[in-house]
Parts: sequence; C-alpha cells; structure tokens
Amino acid sequence: MTENLKHLIKDHINFPVKGIIFKDILPLLQDPDIFAKVIEEMSNSPIFRNADAIISIDARGFIFGTAISFYLSKPMVVARKPGKLPGKLIQKSYDLEYGSNSLAIQEESIKPYKSFAIVDDLLATGGTVKCVAEILNDSCKEISGLSVVIELGELCGRDKFKFPVESNIVL
Ligand code: AMP
Repeated sequence: MTENLKHLIKDHINFPVKGIIFKDILPLLQDPDIFAKVIEEMSNSPIFRNADAIISIDARGFIFGTAISFYLSKPMVVARKPGKLPGKLIQKSYDLEYGSNSLAIQEESIKPYKSFAIVDDLLATGGTVKCVAEILNDSCKEISGLSVVIELGELCGRDKFKFPVESNIVL
C-alpha cells in the first residue's frame, strides 16, 4: 500500500513558501481503486469505532473525512478556516509549518456528540490538529484519535498528542 501511494504523492519544492516541500495528495484521487483502499484502511481503525462522530479539517481533510463518514455511516462535522461558517462559532488560532491561521467549529454541530475522531490529509508539526483538539477539549469533548493519510515523520507532530495517531504513509 505504502509503495502504491508513494508514487501518487507529488512533491512541490518551495510551495507555498520557500523552504517547504509541499506534498500534493490530490493525484491519488485520480486512482479510484487506491483511493477506495486508503479509505478502507483508514476506516478500519478503532479510532473510528470509539468515536460518536468524525471531525474533518478544512480543506483536504474534508475529502477523506466525507468518504470515511459514508463508509462507516458515522456523522461528520467540520473545522473550517475563517469566514466560511455561519452561526455561533468556537474559534482558535494556531501556527502552521508555514505561517499561522485559525479554525472555527459551529457550536451547535458538536453538541450531540461526546467523542470525536479527527481526520486530515497530512500531519506536519501538529499545530492544526492541536487547534482542533483544544477546541474540543475546551468544550468538554473526548478525542478517540487522529487519522491522516500522510505523516511527516521528521517533524514529530504526533508527540504533541496523548490520543492515538494513525497514518497510511510516513514520509
Ligand atoms: P501542521 O499543522 O503543521 O501539522 O500542518 C498540517 C496542515 O497543513 C494540513 O492540513 C496539511 O494539509 C497542511 N500542510 C502542512 N505542511 C504541508 C506539506 N508539507 N505539504 C502539504 N500540506 C501541508
């Protein structure tokens, strides 16, 4: 699986800023069989069995979170970048591998659920996921774990978390 995936992840040097090697995961969507295998592999984790709902992160996290939600018939909510969500929001800022940003969750969307599995495309420094985890923790929610397709191993993002972290491929 790892070898099948590796050739579908394209490196873009110095994008979006100098010094960053951007891992473009979108080519893997052009191979429906591999995409289906990735979703199956992610979905078979206890991280999802132990969660009431999935929370996916803007924007590429939505692609994988939505497919897992369909596959497992689990509800999904979203964490989005500023200015995208209506209604009463819970918002927090965080640092990225490049720059900083903030994420917001609709307060109403998380109310019905006690535990969440977090989904994103890639784990780098872990700042993005930490932001989502803090919003959930501040709202007295539990986190069953994090599922990502790619993990940048050298950045040790997983060390920021006490909950389980699973990735299909470590680069
Ligand atoms: P981080 O907060 O550092 O773990 O960064 C993770 C988030 O930023 C994910 O939503 C990724 O989509 C994006 N990201 C960070 N670094 C990269 C990278 N080198 N290539 C592609 N996406 C990245």
